[in-house]
Amino acid sequence: MGEVRLRGIGIDIGGTAVKAGRLGPAQELELHLERPTPAREGPDALLEVLLPLLEELEAALPQSECPLPLGVGCAGLIEPTTGLVRTSPNLPGWRDVPLADLLGSAAGRPVVVLNDANAFTLAESRLGAGRSARTVIGLTLGTGVGGGLLLDGRLWTGQNGFAGELGHMPLVADGPPCLCGARGCLEALVGTPAIIRRYGEITGRVEAALTPRLLAARAGQGDGAALETFRETGRLLGLALGGLTHLLDPNLFIVGGGISGASDLILPATRGALAGSVMLPAALVPDVRPAALGNSAGWIGAALAAIERAGT
Ligand SMILES: [Zn+2]
Repeated sequence: MGEVRLRGIGIDIGGTAVKAGRLGPAQELELHLERPTPAREGPDALLEVLLPLLEELEAALPQSECPLPLGVGCAGLIEPTTGLVRTSPNLPGWRDVPLADLLGSAAGRPVVVLNDANAFTLAESRLGAGRSARTVIGLTLGTGVGGGLLLDGRLWTGQNGFAGELGHMPLVADGPPCLCGARGCLEALVGTPAIIRRYGEITGRVEAALTPRLLAARAGQGDGAALETFRETGRLLGLALGGLTHLLDPNLFIVGGGISGASDLILPATRGALAGSVMLPAALVPDVRPAALGNSAGWIGAALAAIERAGT
């Protein structure tokens, strides 16, 4: 990308927390703040959280630099050109909310709004696990499975902002039901509930309050069923990445999200299944890397999107 030397602010609206931060002129992390998300109280309540955050993030800067470019990442179906939030699982009840316009007029500047997995992919590609890679596919694994596509250095969001919904690619015909209403989606096979269900199927036991973190701890202690659960999850993920490789021939895949703490247990099987499912010679099979920015990727990607838009 061109040399962009601007500060910028990014905000990541999560289901429970709003994470916000400021990138410096060399794209260094200057400041980071967090507040609870008023998820059920509507757009006005959200603005009441965001505006003081903005003020704090700009407080000590010279007036000549303000207002800084501002980007917002949010889960759900977002129209990136207009900043319209059609629906968001993190903001129940929101329908067609013009978030970029609302926040933009309150904050006195244009606002970029993008899908949170797209923000993740942009951040990891530019400043995280994918530095300098031009074509990157990002995946966030958690309760849901999100995705983002960086094609030849730019985010590809499709005609409606809907591109990169990798969690809802069908992988197994008539497979387990998915929250989207279809069956056998990637999310229904490698999302957190699927991982927990897989472990129960292997052990034949039903356990309340199991989490991937607990399973990872058991795997670390040599629990064979837990190890097999992560291996099979990784294998299924790898088959999906094989399909994506045939479609887009990326430099690499970056995998993050809530279960990235179990990357070491999942990704070896992913790499094996990917290599076994593509027509490429081994040396050309894309790398699969764990994400590097942790839970800051969302706000960092939102800030980068705003900085890059302001710089063009
Ligand atoms: Zn689905």
